Amino acid sequence: MFFGIGQASYHKRYAKKRGIVFPMIRIFLPAEQLRSEHIVITGDNARHLALVLRVQPGEIITIFDGQGYRYECTVKQVHKREITVQMSRKEPYSVESPISVVLAQGLPKGDKMDLIIQKATELGTTRIIPLITERSQVKQTNKLVRWKKIALSASRQSGRDRITDISEAVTFSDFLASQMSPPAKAYVEDIKGATLNVLLSEDYKLRNLKELLSRNSSVKEVVLMVGPEGGFSRTEVQTATEKGFTEASLGPRILRTETASLAAISIIQYTLGDMG
Ligand code: SAM
Repeated sequence: MFFGIGQASYHKRYAKKRGIVFPMIRIFLPAEQLRSEHIVITGDNARHLALVLRVQPGEIITIFDGQGYRYECTVKQVHKREITVQMSRKEPYSVESPISVVLAQGLPKGDKMDLIIQKATELGTTRIIPLITERSQVKQTNKLVRWKKIALSASRQSGRDRITDISEAVTFSDFLASQMSPPAKAYVEDIKGATLNVLLSEDYKLRNLKELLSRNSSVKEVVLMVGPEGGFSRTEVQTATEKGFTEASLGPRILRTETASLAAISIIQYTLGDMG
């Protein structure tokens, strides 16, 4: 929960008066910065803690290292540009889903990718790869820094202990070239623990995503390809299926690309992950 300047301390006083446990303040720091008991926090994190959350000496905050550990720390000193904390406890911690979801998202127009990154992160996606496809109207982008910030903020807000990784945009063919060919015929038999590669297609009516996942319930990772506004071309669908991607449908209605991605990730987390 984030408050504007001034609001945070008001809410803290209000919560304390009424015996409400104030939500734990969480930040991410790389594990290399968490090696000693005394930790000095600088940059955006320091500004956020000092000016937005208005932390005070004596307050407890939680630091996540993005590698499965959390650290309980007591605030010692607060300056606008530097916060000093003392670490009191380090423990393994995870709210990560047992299924890893990699979303290869056909680049949409405007700010839609911002929304997809924010929501897919909340839904526990491991990695997002922006895809430049034949029908993408956007053929290049310089938004990687912005997207990484959105993923960081959504990871923090949703209490995740890992940050969704956002890759550089790649062309459809480079993406396929980087994929290991999984065993074919994922729809006929369980591919037993391997990665399930799925291409969502609004034209394909023979098999829906739910059925495909149920037949492959032991997979640990799903790579999900979703087309941009204009969808995938026939050639792209054919190339992807030759490379081991299985086509799947999300039902009879044509969904906007952002709806298709978020609905599919929810179905995966519900069927093979930890949503319910
Ligand atoms: N080609 C279509 C058109 O312009 O009429 C629409 C493409 S749709 C907006 C964008 C992407 O969302 C598709 O390429 C597909 O990956 C996914 N999608 C949308 N509806 C879907 C459905 N019912 N089943 C599976 N995928 C769907």
